[in-house]
Amino acid sequence: METLTHFIAGQDVPTTSNDYLDNFEPATGLVYSRIPEAGVDELEAAIRAGQQAFPAWSGAPAEERAACLRRLARLIERDIDPLAMAESIDNGKPLSIARQLDIPRAAANLNFFAAAATQFSSESHATDAHTLNYTLRKPHGLVACISPWNLPLYLFTWKIAPALASGNCVIGKPSEVTPMTAWMLGKLCREAGLPDGVLNILHGSGPTIGQQIVEHPAISAISFTGGTATGEGIARTAAPAFKKLSLELGGKNPSIVFADCHWERMMDGVLRAAFSNQGQICLCGSRILLERSIYDRFCDEFVARVQQLRLGDPLENGTQQGAVVSEAHMTKILGCIETAREEGGTVLCGGDRVVPDGARCKNGWFVAPTVIEGLGIDCQTNQNEIFGPVVTLTPFDDEQQALELANGTRYGLAANLWSRDVDRCHRLAGRLDAGLIWINCWMIRDLRTPMGGMKHSGMGREGGLEAMRFFTEPRNVCVSFT
Ligand code: NAP
Repeated sequence: METLTHFIAGQDVPTTSNDYLDNFEPATGLVYSRIPEAGVDELEAAIRAGQQAFPAWSGAPAEERAACLRRLARLIERDIDPLAMAESIDNGKPLSIARQLDIPRAAANLNFFAAAATQFSSESHATDAHTLNYTLRKPHGLVACISPWNLPLYLFTWKIAPALASGNCVIGKPSEVTPMTAWMLGKLCREAGLPDGVLNILHGSGPTIGQQIVEHPAISAISFTGGTATGEGIARTAAPAFKKLSLELGGKNPSIVFADCHWERMMDGVLRAAFSNQGQICLCGSRILLERSIYDRFCDEFVARVQQLRLGDPLENGTQQGAVVSEAHMTKILGCIETAREEGGTVLCGGDRVVPDGARCKNGWFVAPTVIEGLGIDCQTNQNEIFGPVVTLTPFDDEQQALELANGTRYGLAANLWSRDVDRCHRLAGRLDAGLIWINCWMIRDLRTPMGGMKHSGMGREGGLEAMRFFTEPRNVCVSFT
C-alpha cells in the first residue's frame, strides 16, 4: 500500500507525527493508500522553504517562470495515462472523464498561465501634460491554494498556475479525500526543475492543517475552492488579518428550458449539466426549470435517457456514471433524497444506492442518477446544494416566473438557458444572479473568462487576468514633471 508524502523544499517529506489518514477507492470502498497528516513542523518547514525561494522566483524574468510551467505541463501530458488512472481510482470518476477532461485541463491550466506570465501588463494613466501614473503589480509572497475533491488535479493546477506565474511561492493543500494526483504532481515539479520551495504541498485534513495554513501570519493571500460553509469559516479567519481572499464556493444552478429551444441540443446539454462527474461539478445544473407546455414531454424523454446512463466500474470502457467520492458523501446524498421524499417530492427514477455488476465494485459507493418532481422552490431540496447525481424538475408559466425561480436561492454561481429567442436570451442573461451563464450550451470554458459566483457562491473571480490580478498587489506611482 502506497504511503504518500508531503512535498516540501523539493523533497518528499514523511510526516513527523506518524499520523496517517486512510485513502479510499470509492468504487470498491477499500483503503488503498495512506495520507500523512501534516502538523506544525511540516507547515513551518513549508513556510521557510517558500520564504527562501520567493526572492529568486519573484525576481526571475517572467519567461523563466513560464518555461518552468510549460515543462510541468509537458510532463503532465506525458504522464496522462497514469495520472488519469490515479484520478479515477482516487475519486470514483469514469477513467474516460479523467483522461478527456481532468488531466488535459491540468496541463492546459499550466500552459495558459505560462503565457499569461509573459503577457501580463500593468496600467499607465497620463493624467495631464505634467502628470503620469503607472501601476506596479508585485506578487504577494507566500500564498495558500486550497482545492476540493471533485476535480482534483484540474482545480489544484487552476490555482497554483496563476499564483506561480505571477511570482508567488505557494503552500498547496489538496483535499484529503483525493490527494493522489497532487502527490504525483510534486514528483513532476522536481523533474520539471521547479526551484525548491516554490511550490510546497501539504496533505491532511481541512479543519486541522487547512485551518493552520489559513491562520499562519506568513500567508498573505488565500485562494480557496470548496463548500460555502468552509468558505465562510475561512473568511472569518482571514478577514481580521486582512489577507487577500478568493472564494469559489457552492452552487444550486438552474437549467432553464423554454419551449422554443432546439430540442435535441437542449436534451444533450441538460443531461450533461445534470449528471457529469456524478453531479459533482460546482457548475452542474441541478434545478431543471421547464416551460409548462413542454414539461410532460421533457419529463418522459429525460427520465428515459437518465435510466440509460451506464453506471459501473469507473475503470471500464463505456462507464458514464462512476462512484460518488466517499461513503460520507453517499450518505449525505441519500439523506437529501430522503428529505425530498419527506417534502412531498416524487422520485421519477433512481433514488437509491446501487451495486454495479461485477465483484470488484460490490462495496463501492454508487448512487443511481435521480430525478425528482413535485417540489416548490422554498424546500430544502431546491435550496441546499446536494452535489451529487440528483436533480429536480419544476414547471414555470412565463419568463418572469422562470427568472424568479432561477434567482430564488442564496447561491449565484452558474445558469444555463435554452431558447432560440435571441432577445429573450440576452434579456435574461442580464438579469440572472449568476457569475457564469451559458446560452444553448453548458460548460464551454475559455480560460480567459472570469470564473466565479455571486451571492453565497463566492467572492472574487478566477481565470485569465482576474487571477493574475488577484495574485498581485498593485502599487500606483504618480509622477509630476515639468
Ligand atoms: P470543502 O469540504 O469545503 O473542502 C474544500 C477544501 O478545503 C478541501 O481541501 C478541505 O480539506 C479544505 N478545508 C476544509 N476545512 C478547512 C478549513 N477549516 N480551513 C482550510 N481548509 C479547509 O469542500 P469539498 O467537499 O471538498 O468540495 C465540494 C464543494 O466545493 C461544493 O460545495 C462545490 O460546489 C464546491 N466547489 C466550488 C467550485 C467553484 O468554482 N465555485 C468548484 C468546485 C467545487 P479536506 O477535504 O482535506 O478536509
